[in-house]
Amino acid sequence: MNRAPESIPQALPHIEALAPYIPGQQPDGEGWVKLNTNENPYPPSPRIAEAIRAELSRLPLYPNPSSGTLREAIADFHGLENSQVLIGNGSDDVLNLLFRSFCDKGKSAGMLEVGYSLYSVLAGIQNTPLIKVACNREMVLDPKSLSACGASVFFLTSPNAPTGVSYSRQQIADILDHYEGLLVVDEAYAAFAQEDAVPLLGNYPNLVITRTFSKSYGLAGLRVGYALADPKVIQLLDRVRDSYNVNRLSQAGALAAFLDTEYYENVINRIEVTREVFREKLKELDWFTYPSQSNYLFTEPCQPGGRVGAEAARDLFEFLQDRKILVRYFAGSSLTESFLRISVGTDEQMDLLLAAIEQWMNRAQPK
Ligand code: PMP
Repeated sequence: MNRAPESIPQALPHIEALAPYIPGQQPDGEGWVKLNTNENPYPPSPRIAEAIRAELSRLPLYPNPSSGTLREAIADFHGLENSQVLIGNGSDDVLNLLFRSFCDKGKSAGMLEVGYSLYSVLAGIQNTPLIKVACNREMVLDPKSLSACGASVFFLTSPNAPTGVSYSRQQIADILDHYEGLLVVDEAYAAFAQEDAVPLLGNYPNLVITRTFSKSYGLAGLRVGYALADPKVIQLLDRVRDSYNVNRLSQAGALAAFLDTEYYENVINRIEVTREVFREKLKELDWFTYPSQSNYLFTEPCQPGGRVGAEAARDLFEFLQDRKILVRYFAGSSLTESFLRISVGTDEQMDLLLAAIEQWMNRAQPK
């Protein structure tokens, strides 16, 4: 008789040692003011429901393997060829494909010291050394230190996470003029920014841009993102991805969203207005907040008497959580630990947050 083994075999050592990505909290139940994962506070375009409904009867059939119609619409919009576009199951899928295709033990990845934390997890999965380029508090980008960092692939988040600070097209061109590796500009938040790097694609075959439907299109639950790059890069990623990486409902829903330009221009505009109004309110409290070109604000809570720091930030984070208001706290780095990242919600949500902040300020008043 066969005996079941008493323990499972060891996984690869770097997987055994891997610290997983920790997503922001997704609480169950009602009544939360959720400003912790940069989701869109507004409902998606009503056309999405129609498009998804029309697709339901076709669910027994596999989806189009390369998300053909959506890919064409995205290529058209950006003035590119279909061969320069790849659709992913969220932009995290696209980032994962980039790591799997271009990074390994001998081919390092790079990122800014302050950037999207998933990159370090993907580097860990791929067993790739990760080079972190130092940031200063001003978050000024130094193209030279980046292009000279020695990474085979550099992942630059612009607008950056969690600061919201955006890097200009000229700065990105300055990096590319001296960088021989692959530069991935993660433009998850580009819809809220004044500039993007898309026009550089024609001049630099080593530029990859990633985008998502999760933020400006309010479709985080649908999981759709894409890459724009030279056809040779796209062909490589295409070899590595799952053949049916984007399901039928997601392809149909994302296409409907993409074509409803007027609806989304309006949503983006509302978010930008709310962001600036709220930033002004934080200024009135005398808090330092980075100028943001995204749908969130990275702000340094300051207690009466001018006390700032990790303790104040964590205290406010917990105070808000107790009142069912979720924001994001990033411990572990002197550049982030005295800050909170607040996603821009509706005006009503921001008013609730502000009222709670005022309560906290009054409670924290020194005697
Ligand atoms: N890049 C950045 C900078 C992000 O903040 C996020 C959202 N967590 C993503 C990519 C991933 O987005 P998606 O939902 O498309 O996987």
